[in-house]
Amino acid sequence: MPKVKLRMRLFFSHMAVMVVGLSTLLIIGKLYTPQLFVWELVRLEGLGFNLSLVRPRLVEVFQVAWSRGAFWSVIVGGGTAGLMSYLAARWIGKPLQQMEEITRKVAKGELAARVPPYPIPELNRLAVSFNRMATTLEGVEQRRRDLVSDLTHELRTPLTVLEGYLEGLADGTIEPSPEIYLRLASETTRLRRLVNDLQELSQAEAGYLPIHTQPFSLTHLLSKVTTKFADQVPDGGPSLQLVCSPDLPLVLADPERVEQILINLLGNALRYTSTGTITLRTWVEMGSTRLAWIAVTDMGQGIAPDDLPHVFERFWRADRSRSRDSGGTGIGLAISKRLVELQGGTIAVESQLGQGSTFRFSLPLA
Ligand code: ADP
Repeated sequence: MPKVKLRMRLFFSHMAVMVVGLSTLLIIGKLYTPQLFVWELVRLEGLGFNLSLVRPRLVEVFQVAWSRGAFWSVIVGGGTAGLMSYLAARWIGKPLQQMEEITRKVAKGELAARVPPYPIPELNRLAVSFNRMATTLEGVEQRRRDLVSDLTHELRTPLTVLEGYLEGLADGTIEPSPEIYLRLASETTRLRRLVNDLQELSQAEAGYLPIHTQPFSLTHLLSKVTTKFADQVPDGGPSLQLVCSPDLPLVLADPERVEQILINLLGNALRYTSTGTITLRTWVEMGSTRLAWIAVTDMGQGIAPDDLPHVFERFWRADRSRSRDSGGTGIGLAISKRLVELQGGTIAVESQLGQGSTFRFSLPLA
């Protein structure tokens, strides 16, 4: 079947309606109106008027007048209706054609292309939905590009270090020693950790990380994690303190994921605090939604106000070179944020440079 454009279809359907209307009018008029005229003449004769001499002429004149009237009605009416059908078909067809062109552009990768607003409400709603979809696609594409560029940057450093040492060892400019091998091993460990973190982050961002929520007691989990960390604090390092009411209600979350978040927050607190106290605190908020808050407060180096909005971004580190040496990948907080959100909570940070930071997150109560 030949493909006819929508605009033409609309135009022809309007024309068909018009032709049917006009033909009906003409056929019925042609058959019925002269007959009606003759009946009327007969009625007048019945009333006493003598029309027998002029009757054939009157009928003839009426026929001519009717035909001319019908002819001009068809010309003027048909022409106007045809023009209006054409304009209406164009009014609807043109935006659709434009929309199709823009859809093709977006499909080809021109993600900034947008459909303009239309005066027809239904088409306008379609345009708004399309533009929303294009904006989402643009965001996804931008994040993909950022991830690839961040990733390249992150992988390049350990690879350059490894390459340098291995070349030095190969051409004899570096003497093989246990320290050199340890350095090589630590760089490969870093690479492995980066790959693991990335896998976890991509799963968390895509929402594929399995979250098994269940009602459980935070008190038990918090004391377990605090004891584990207290054993790792170096001599003369910061002390760990747990402030937690024993009658804390149960929360509805995944204990393993909550532990993972706590390990990240406490690990950071330890890494960026040399002396003082690191406090793990919980409280309950009884607002419109009932929440348990868990906060990790340290007395460490703190975060500058300009840096605060970026801490949950992946690969972001306040001091890129130093954090890299200390093993940070800048992914931990991005994963924690996603894990908190997947469990229906929120995460926030408050910090003062040189005084310390508080990272807190909420979980729904059971
Ligand atoms: P990293 O593995 O580098 O610690 P994170 O995502 O956990 O990655 O943290 C990102 C950055 O946020 C860190 O590199 C550090 O600059 C800053 N940061 C996180 N926690 C703290 C904290 N408790 N005190 C000071 N800075 C912090």
